[in-house]
Amino acid sequence: MFNQHNASKRKVKISPPAETAAGLKSIQTVAYRIWEETHVGKGVKTLFKLNQPNGFDCPSCAWPDPDANKVSKIAEYCENGAKAVAWEGSANTIEPSFFEQYSINDLLEKSDHWLEKQGRLTQPMVLKSGDTHYSPITWEAAFSLIATQLLALDHPDQAIFYTSGRTSNEAAFLYQCFVRQYGTNNLPDCSNMCHEASGKALTDTVGIGKASVVLNDIPKADLLIVMGQNPGTNAPRMLTAMEELKNNGGKIISVNPLPETGLLQFRHPQKPWEWIGKPTSIHDLHLQVKVNGDLPLMKALLKMLLEAEKNAPGEVFDTAFIAEFTVGYEALRQHIETTNLAEMIQESGVPEKQIREAASLIIGKKNIIIAWAMGITQHRNAENTIREIVNILLLKGAIGKPGAGTLPVRGHSNVQGDRTMGVWEKMPDSFMQRLGNAFNFKPPINEGVHAVGAIQAMVDGKGKVFMGMGGNFALAAPDTNIVFEGLKQCALTFHVSTKLNRSHLIHGKTALILPCLGRTEEDISNNGPQFVSTEDTAGRVRRSHGDLKPVSPDLKSEVAIVCDMAKAVLGKENPTDWEGMSEDYGLIRDKIAEVIPGFEDYNERIKVAGGFYLPNGARERNFNTPDKKARLTVNPVNFNKNPETPFILMTVRSHDQFNTTIYGYDDRYRGISNSREVVMMNKDDMNQYGCKAGDLVKLTSVFEGEKRILEGFQVVPYDISPGCLSVYFPEGNVLVALGNNSEESHCPASKYIEVFLEKMDNGSDE
Ligand code: SF4
Repeated sequence: MFNQHNASKRKVKISPPAETAAGLKSIQTVAYRIWEETHVGKGVKTLFKLNQPNGFDCPSCAWPDPDANKVSKIAEYCENGAKAVAWEGSANTIEPSFFEQYSINDLLEKSDHWLEKQGRLTQPMVLKSGDTHYSPITWEAAFSLIATQLLALDHPDQAIFYTSGRTSNEAAFLYQCFVRQYGTNNLPDCSNMCHEASGKALTDTVGIGKASVVLNDIPKADLLIVMGQNPGTNAPRMLTAMEELKNNGGKIISVNPLPETGLLQFRHPQKPWEWIGKPTSIHDLHLQVKVNGDLPLMKALLKMLLEAEKNAPGEVFDTAFIAEFTVGYEALRQHIETTNLAEMIQESGVPEKQIREAASLIIGKKNIIIAWAMGITQHRNAENTIREIVNILLLKGAIGKPGAGTLPVRGHSNVQGDRTMGVWEKMPDSFMQRLGNAFNFKPPINEGVHAVGAIQAMVDGKGKVFMGMGGNFALAAPDTNIVFEGLKQCALTFHVSTKLNRSHLIHGKTALILPCLGRTEEDISNNGPQFVSTEDTAGRVRRSHGDLKPVSPDLKSEVAIVCDMAKAVLGKENPTDWEGMSEDYGLIRDKIAEVIPGFEDYNERIKVAGGFYLPNGARERNFNTPDKKARLTVNPVNFNKNPETPFILMTVRSHDQFNTTIYGYDDRYRGISNSREVVMMNKDDMNQYGCKAGDLVKLTSVFEGEKRILEGFQVVPYDISPGCLSVYFPEGNVLVALGNNSEESHCPASKYIEVFLEKMDNGSDE
C-alpha cells in the first residue's frame, strides 16, 4: 500500500488566505531558498542567467519569455522559477555512502520532500535483483545491463519509455528516434496526464493542439477569461502580463472552484514601488463554479449570447468571421436554442446574476483570450468543455487576430517541445515517414501506449521494462497503488534523474538510477560547449545553456545518455551517427530540421536572441482541419455522476511545490501550513458532517464498484463550493481510479473524483 508519509503527524496550521500575490514576500522567499539550498553566491549568479537570451530556460513551467529586447536584465523570473533553480542547484549531494546507509525500506519511510532534499545524485547506481541497497555501477555496465534486458524481451512493445516535460528538444528527438529504431511506439509522456485533452479538442476544432496566442497578445486583449488555472502558483509570470492587460483597461474573469490569491490582487515583485500601497486588482469578476461546472457555465453563457445576438443581429457574434472561417453554426445554434438555461445555471453552481454579468462582458468585447489549465483538462468530459470554450471564441471571431485566441497554459518547461519532437504514442504517418527516411529505418506501425495504457500494461504483465526520462512517474500517475503494483512487476525499471525520488524506490526486479546534468549546468562535450533548446506555451523555440559547473564529473547529459544507450542496444551495425550527435548537438538540430516542419535552418535561427516561433495556422486563421475551416461543435453535458455520492473531489498544487517536487509544507497563498495531508472543505459541509478544523477524515472514492481510500487527512475550512472537496496532488492520486479518465484522450480525471467522507477519531499530535 501507498505510504501516506506519516499522514496527520504534522499538524496543520491555518490562517486566512493571502489577499495579494507576489510582492515583497515573494522576494523574501526567493532569498531564503537560495540561502538554504545553494552556496549563496552560486545561486544568485545563476538567477542572473535565468530566462535571459544568453542564459538557460527556466526548468519549472512553460510560460513564455518576453521578446529579447524586453527581457529584464536583473530578474526575468518568478518566485517559483527561482525555487526550481535553487532546488536543482542544491549544494547537497548524494554519494554512494548515502545508499550504504539507507536501504530501500528505510528510504520508503521518508517523505517525498525529504528524498529530494538530500541533494543531487552524483553517479550511476544499480539495485540488483534481491538487493536491499543501491550500489554504484559504471556507465558502461549500466548501458550493457539495459541492452541485455531490452534485447531479451519477446517484443519491443514490452518496453515502455516515459518522458517528463524537462527533456530538451535535442534529447527528446533522439530519444524517440532510438525508441522507434528499437521497435516500439510506447512513448507515454506527462502530456498524457495534463493537456492531452486540449491537444485533442483544439486539433478537432482549430487544427492545432497548441495556444493560438503569444505573450504580446495578452496586454492587447479586451477580455481575458482564466478557467481552471491558478497562475499565481503554476505560471506566476502570467500575472505580469495580466497586470499589463489591466493597466491597458482590459477586463479579467476568473472561473475556478477556489478563489485563488493569484487571481485576486498582485504586487509586481520587480517593481519595489508596488510593494506598498494599493496592489493591482486582477479579476473583475470571479465565477466560483462547482468542480466541473465549467461546461454548463459555457452553455449558459452561449445561451445568453445567442439571446443577445437575436435581439441585435450581427452586434454580438462576428457573423462575417463565422461565414468565412467556420462550419457547424446552424447545428450549434439549434443546440443552444434547445439548451435548458435554468438547468445549466444550476449545474454550474454560479448565481445567474454573475453569469449574466460575464455574458455582458463577453458581448461588449471583441478581443477575447480564454486561458485554461488542468482544472479544465482533468475531467471525464474535458474535450467537450474545451470545444465549448472554442465555440465562444469562434462565435466572437476572437481567434487569429491580435489580443484574441486560445491559451492552454502548459505545465512543465518543455512538455510542449517534447511532443513536437515526436514523443507521442501515435505520431502521424507523415512524421514517421520523414523520420524513417532521415535515419534509414522503418518505424513501427503499432500504436503505442499512453500513460494510463502503460500502467495497465505493467499491471497485466505486458510491460516488462520501464524507463523514465526525467520526472517521478510513480507519484505523478493516477491510481498510486496500481502504479506501484505495475512498476514492481517489471523486470527492469530505470530513470534518468537529477534528484532522488519515489520512482527510484518503487522498482522492478532490477533498477538503475542514471544521474544527468541539470539545465543550469554547463554541458561540454569533446567538441566543446553544447546548448539545447526548448519550446514554450506560445510555441516559441529558444536556446538554453547553463553555466554552472556540474555537481559531479560522473554526470552525463540527457543527449549523451540516449546516445550511449542507443549504441549499446542497437549495436555497432546501426547506421545512425549516435557518437557524432552526442558530441555535436548541431547535428541533431540538422536532423530535426529534416524531419519536423517549422524547424528549417534550425541551427541558424536558434542563434537569434529570443529564438523563433513555430508555424501556427490558427494564429493566421488558416485552420488545418479536414475542411480547412474552424469547427463549431455540439457538446453534450453528461457527467454520469452517481447521485448517491456526496462529494466531488479535485486535486490541486500548493504554492510550495512544482508537480511532484515538494519544496516545503507551506501553501502561503491559501493560508495552509506545516502539513499537506489536508482536505479543503466548505463550512456548511463541515457543519453537516460535524467536522471542525483539524479533524481527521477518511475519504473513499468509488469507481465501478472498487473502493480507494485516503485516511487521516485534516479538515481545513475553505471557500470552496458546497459538495466539493480539494486535496493536494500527488497525495490525492491514490483516489483516482485508472479507468477514471477523459473520454477521448485518457487524461486522468484528477479533478473529478467522486468520494464519500467519514469523520475519524481524532489522533493528531504535533
Ligand atoms: S513563470 Fe514559469 S517559466 Fe517563468 S520563471 Fe516562473 S516558473 Fe519559470
